[in-house]
Amino acid sequence: VEPRVVAARASVITPRLTLIVIRDITERERVEQMRRDFVSNTSHELKTPVGAVTLLAEAIESAADDPEQVRHFVRRLSAEATRLGQLTSRIMNLSRLQSADEISEMRDVSVDEVVRAAIESLAVSAESAEISVARGGDRGLFVRGDRQILTEAVSNLLANAIAYSPPGAQVGVGVREADGAVEIAVADHGIGIPEEDQQRVFERFYRADQARSRRTGGTGLGLAIVKHAVQRHGGSVDLWSRPGRGSTFTIRLPLAAVDTSTTRKPKKKK
Ligand code: ADP
Repeated sequence: VEPRVVAARASVITPRLTLIVIRDITERERVEQMRRDFVSNTSHELKTPVGAVTLLAEAIESAADDPEQVRHFVRRLSAEATRLGQLTSRIMNLSRLQSADEISEMRDVSVDEVVRAAIESLAVSAESAEISVARGGDRGLFVRGDRQILTEAVSNLLANAIAYSPPGAQVGVGVREADGAVEIAVADHGIGIPEEDQQRVFERFYRADQARSRRTGGTGLGLAIVKHAVQRHGGSVDLWSRPGRGSTFTIRLPLAAVDTSTTRKPKKKK
């Protein structure tokens, strides 16, 4: 192509091109700002447990003559290390979900299996918190997505339902089809969330009740992960809650068109 022709073409497409370039720069600036905020929030949140680990190590050293004290500090050190590990892996998961990378595993995923796996992963915590988990029957519904990410999203909701309920309480997980979408609802009769916090709980590191959340050892990242996970699947999550009565989180995902006649085989009678 001759230079003159190129110039002529360029002048024709310039206004749109400029707009696209500007939009691209704004988008890049926004992503960059998000990344900066994320790094700064994260470093801040890591400082507390790292500081605790350092202090506990010093405490162990100076209590060396007292085995009982040493045991006590070692137990606390181990708890802090576990928390730090959980925080780090959640930070990594969230950062992956927020990045532009495509979700690699887009498959037909059974929602019943996702719910079952989430409940199973929390069986031990539920038992030690004396919470019973009730599950509705199988619905045979499928969504398109990454099974592991979806399971983590449901697990996070369930972990919260357990953590913010009193001992002896029951939490429920139900699946249903509504308007071409699949709804997964996780309901509890726990402490509930004040209205003014209901939008903010999905922000990373936000905790509705600082003192209480600290006691339950939360990271403030669970719901941010849920939000990003479902958004990456073209879905949404919303919340109904009343302080003192409980909360229901509902994940909504596009229903996948799957030929269930090949995926749902009738059980053979022995
Ligand atoms: P955390 O690790 O602190 O639980 P999340 O992002 O999972 O972090 O939740 C953010 C905050 O939302 C929690 O600290 C808590 O205050 C509130 N929250 C989340 N789920 C529930 C629930 N089921 N019942 C009451 N409060 C909840």
